[in-house]
Amino acid sequence: MLLRDVLLLDSSMEKAQPCDLVLSGPVIDSILPPRSASLAAELDGKGSVAVLPGFVNAHSHAAMTLLRGLGDEAPLMEWLQEKIWPVESRLRPEHVYWGTLLALLEMLSRGITCFADMYFFMDQAAEAARQSGMRCALCRGLVGSDEKKLEEGVDLVRRFHDPSGMIHVQLGPHAIYTVPPEAFREISMTARDLGVGVHTHWLETEWEAGYIREELGKDPVDLLFEVGLSEVPFAILAHGVWFPEDRLESLAGGNMTVVHNPNSNLKLGSGIAPVPSFLEKGVRVALGTDGAASNNRLDIWDEMRTCCLLHKGFRRNPCTVRAAEVLRMATLDGARALGFEDVGLLKPGWQADLALVNLDKPHYVGVTPENLCASLVYSGSSADVEGTLAGGKWLFRKGRHETLDERAIVRQARICRKELLEG
Ligand SMILES: [Zn+2]
Repeated sequence: MLLRDVLLLDSSMEKAQPCDLVLSGPVIDSILPPRSASLAAELDGKGSVAVLPGFVNAHSHAAMTLLRGLGDEAPLMEWLQEKIWPVESRLRPEHVYWGTLLALLEMLSRGITCFADMYFFMDQAAEAARQSGMRCALCRGLVGSDEKKLEEGVDLVRRFHDPSGMIHVQLGPHAIYTVPPEAFREISMTARDLGVGVHTHWLETEWEAGYIREELGKDPVDLLFEVGLSEVPFAILAHGVWFPEDRLESLAGGNMTVVHNPNSNLKLGSGIAPVPSFLEKGVRVALGTDGAASNNRLDIWDEMRTCCLLHKGFRRNPCTVRAAEVLRMATLDGARALGFEDVGLLKPGWQADLALVNLDKPHYVGVTPENLCASLVYSGSSADVEGTLAGGKWLFRKGRHETLDERAIVRQARICRKELLEG
């Protein structure tokens, strides 16, 4: 497949180059000078289509699209205990199936090709992901020290984990305040033995930091190591808002990625993660949306822009958290966080997971290969996405879903929502 005369974001994430992009099956085959390839073109970008690595949503609860808007503007614990958990107790497998598909419609239309998802009835989420053609990292959220639930998590790994395919599975201890430390360590050791990652929430709120110190009598960074998170192939730490800044070195260069969810943290009033310090200390950072009940958009463009602006304002420094760093978090570092080795860069031999952006719009007048990156992050939005491919296949093209039936999914999601709210 040839994408002719497009502007390709290079590995630095800073600059772009005009080129012909040739795909072969699921991977990028070659990058040639513009208008030099002799194949019939699948698309002629005429120099005004940017090709980016597909975005990675590194922390979500996809089926929470059915709970969108519930308990808006309530504090986190009250929101969970009074609004979310009672409704979630009524969830049935078909709700998770349709709710996940609803999320995938939204993510695909915004250029997201890969997502991490922690929820319940995850065989239904896996089926939804398979139908969509997206890449994903799934885990069943584990709460308490229930051996049966851990067995369910392990069963999900056995049935769906495909290290060289589109679906990866992790174990998902929900958080250290919902899983006792001994049980948490048992989950980590099980993940290590299975050779899979762990996805958890860590230090989302100030309350949680206090709980770790006062109730558990531990330092929140020491506890990460005690519960075995440094011993698994990779660990996805969602939020990390309240990491003590003097302990960040110990997270750098290893298997852990902090997933920054700036809009969810702002909406829930959780605080502002020390992202400039993560970057200075070499801690890998990815971006996530969190669930649609706490954001409420599943839009990585929105997270990129908020991330770039928030930390500049908070640190009173326009040079911190640069556009190229944020694009890298939203693509390559997200893929690494989720254990995908050849995803997130536009290089021959790497997976053809792509987001195509229409630059022929008023707000891109003046865009050049040199300023493309900052133009996308500051001027652009997900409304500019006109194509999404994963593993070399079109999943979304010019406003139409290629693999999912949008009308049927929206209709079924409305029915599910009604059932959940009315009990
Ligand atoms: Zn979450």
